Amino acid sequence: MLLRFLLLTVLNLALAACSEPETALRIEGRTMGTFYAVTLADPFPGGEKALHQQVEARLAQISQEISTYDPNSVLSRFNRSPANTPFPIPALMARAVAQGITAGQTTHGLLDVTVGPLVNLWGFGPDKRPQHTPSDAEIAAARARVGIDKLHLTQGKEGALLSKSRTDLYLDLSTLGEGVGADAIAELLEQSGVHHYLVEIAGAVRSKGHNPNGAPWRIAIVDPSDKPGAFQAVVAPKEMAVSTAGSYRNYYELDGKRYSHIINPRTGKPITHRLVSATVILPTALEADAYDTALMVMGPEQALTFAQKNRLAVYLIVKTDRGFEARYTPQFTPYLVQ
Ligand code: FAD
Repeated sequence: MLLRFLLLTVLNLALAACSEPETALRIEGRTMGTFYAVTLADPFPGGEKALHQQVEARLAQISQEISTYDPNSVLSRFNRSPANTPFPIPALMARAVAQGITAGQTTHGLLDVTVGPLVNLWGFGPDKRPQHTPSDAEIAAARARVGIDKLHLTQGKEGALLSKSRTDLYLDLSTLGEGVGADAIAELLEQSGVHHYLVEIAGAVRSKGHNPNGAPWRIAIVDPSDKPGAFQAVVAPKEMAVSTAGSYRNYYELDGKRYSHIINPRTGKPITHRLVSATVILPTALEADAYDTALMVMGPEQALTFAQKNRLAVYLIVKTDRGFEARYTPQFTPYLVQ
């Protein structure tokens, strides 16, 4: 399960190779159906136990707000609420929805946080895997429920209000969850006076300062070939957030075909092109997590053109007849470690 989601990995943590600093602290756990890890080169007030408790509490709060896997989450209750009825939502969820809407507009609907009916139809949400390939009629029915134009976010005096123009609209923030979580834990650490940390929630990473060895944090983009220890590239994030999405970890085979969990909202079907992973570097993990999935929907050529046009720091891995090939924008170059 853990390996299924390993698209990025952290280097330079072989503490045994040097004298272990007293302040090195690392906790690991599970959240959002995947793993998290927090590594500090600073002490945490109250020590490891307090760090673990506070991180777990923050992640549990996020799940209570935005999980489609929890029928009692705020998001699940919004999904069951009637159309055209403003529904109060908490600040963190509002931030995620606002980012989803912005990225949806920038990518002309290729990133779409209302894609849930299609995600579920293809068996990548809380529902079970389908027994047969969805028919054109089933895809068309699910597609009719999708579109960010059916979702409206407003900021009132009392807080954020969310409404929808169809009762059966199904909001799915899963693509942003890891980014939301990494930013929230980074915020918690900053508020606790920690200045040297690295937070990983599966493919989303936030870091600051230096690692327990006193060296810059370094993150490897894993090679899709799955050769043990093989990396495509090593990145020094320089306090920026790094997020990777990939099509080669989360998929299943049905009727002899392989289906990835990333859905093109225009076709209503899982992507089929040769882009296997997209890594994005941006100031927040939430933004990076939104654009890595959008690039995966676009495919290799459109993703590179979009990244160049928007001057994004992006690293793509493309499957070719000769193996895997890296393509990246000039904005990514300063982060690459030679
Ligand atoms: P990403 O590339 O970041 O996102 C892909 C996911 O986004 C797809 O799986 C789909 O849900 C959605 N998606 C697909 N296409 C699009 C598109 N075009 N636009 C927008 N979104 C799209 N998983 C479990 O198995 N068990 C759990 O208990 C569980 N709990 C969760 C709790 C929370 C709070 C959240 C946010 C998620 C939870 N998940 C759970 C889902 C899981 O964490 C991942 O979000 C999911 O597996 C995909 O994430 P990823 O990083 O692998 O892929």
